[in-house]
Amino acid sequence: MRPTQTKRAVVFVTILFLCGLASLIPSAYAQKEGAKPKQSASPKTLRQSSRAAAGRRNPQISKIVSEIDARNIESTIRKLVSFGTRNTLSEQNNPNRGIGAARDWLYAEFQKAAAPSGGRMTVEKQTFEQPKAARVPQPTMLTNIVATLKGTQPESVNRVYVVSGHYDSMCNSPTDAKCDAPGANDDASGTAAVLEMARVMAKYKFDATIIFMTVPGEEQGLLGATHFAEEAKKNNMDIEAMFTNDIIGSSLGGNGVRDAHTVRVFSEGVPSNETQAEAITRRSVGGENDSPSRQLARFIKETSEHYAPSMKVWMIYRRDRYGRGGDHQPFLERGYAAVRFTEPNEDYHHQHQNVRIENGIQYGDLPQFDDFNYIANVARVNAASLAALALAPARPKNVVFPSGLANDTVIRWDANKEPDIAGYEIVWRDTTAATWTNLLSVGNVLTYTMKGMSKDNYFFGVRAVDKEGNKSQVTYPRPLPRNPTSRAPQTVAP
Ligand SMILES: [Zn+2]
Repeated sequence: MRPTQTKRAVVFVTILFLCGLASLIPSAYAQKEGAKPKQSASPKTLRQSSRAAAGRRNPQISKIVSEIDARNIESTIRKLVSFGTRNTLSEQNNPNRGIGAARDWLYAEFQKAAAPSGGRMTVEKQTFEQPKAARVPQPTMLTNIVATLKGTQPESVNRVYVVSGHYDSMCNSPTDAKCDAPGANDDASGTAAVLEMARVMAKYKFDATIIFMTVPGEEQGLLGATHFAEEAKKNNMDIEAMFTNDIIGSSLGGNGVRDAHTVRVFSEGVPSNETQAEAITRRSVGGENDSPSRQLARFIKETSEHYAPSMKVWMIYRRDRYGRGGDHQPFLERGYAAVRFTEPNEDYHHQHQNVRIENGIQYGDLPQFDDFNYIANVARVNAASLAALALAPARPKNVVFPSGLANDTVIRWDANKEPDIAGYEIVWRDTTAATWTNLLSVGNVLTYTMKGMSKDNYFFGVRAVDKEGNKSQVTYPRPLPRNPTSRAPQTVAP
């Protein structure tokens, strides 16, 4: 055990004594199989000890959070609005008006952001021809602006995190390319947040790779994001998480509620790409609340509690708002974990509206309805989570429950390949709890038995921890594939 680990162990042990849980100590730090039953401990007590054990902050992430500047976000939004419209079907070659002007300006700004990276951040125009579609009356060139900040750890450089906003806008009609469509909230807010994150984070080094992206065609049917996700899939890109920031601009809702301290994070429960066979397994063993996207939402919530405590991450357990969609969907459909960030209360007078005054009401998506400090705070939640993900190890692979009927729960996983792995943590929660409530450091082992805790009664997960204390996303175990010659774990007993 290294000195810092010893120190953490002492803190943890002290907390256990204070909580009257000294009987748990041998299992907590013995780093071998054999944890004692936890049922006697109240979840609240264990949550407190888990919080204490997880409380250490990474100074690089704190610095990134402090450097996000609302003034840059405001000036980006005002500039984007100045192009009159950014409808995907609008002018491509006018330097002052239309989506082409926005595209070229964004490309130049991301290049400026990349300059301090010493060549680690590269900026690319990913251009493609979109064929005719429901909201695309004729074939149209679309351009994603993609800034890639390469990871510095060889074992992690191919692990990618994507953060995105859409730079196109619309008024009442998605195919009206002439009307003014300022799109100050939808989605200059998300675009400006992504650009500001790129500007701040380009200076810092991360183990894994981060892609800062702004895309067109969202209002035309998620076209830019779909193209990127499809290319990523074709190239076997290992996207471990994708964030879309869409309508993160206002702290004042159409319901009159002012809330500058909440951001909604939408995550799906059942994966969009679930196969029939996976559905059958899920019905048998559960897991509809434990998709990779749901684990990502939990990671964001836990991370932002440490680094942006003034913000509440309000996890919404659905893919998107009721009946609506966003740029994370094409990623979900291709098997990537993805979530959507959106303000807590929307105002439909300022979404997809021609700019006008009617019955004394100002309609239109104008900058005067944005709250730039709020957007900066949402960007801080994003940046902290992205940085935490890209500094941490990959989530453990092949996490399984290898045994069948038993009151103890054995969990097994593959070794992470990063050279700075310190060990693993098992997390668990009651089946009705929203977030992981308990954790156990089990050391650098690849199997562990939770004695006296049946997988019937708890949800378990495993995460990897590196020597600096950076923690990966949680992997939810799956049952081992059915073995026809022996009693398989997922066999349904009557
Ligand atoms: Zn939008």
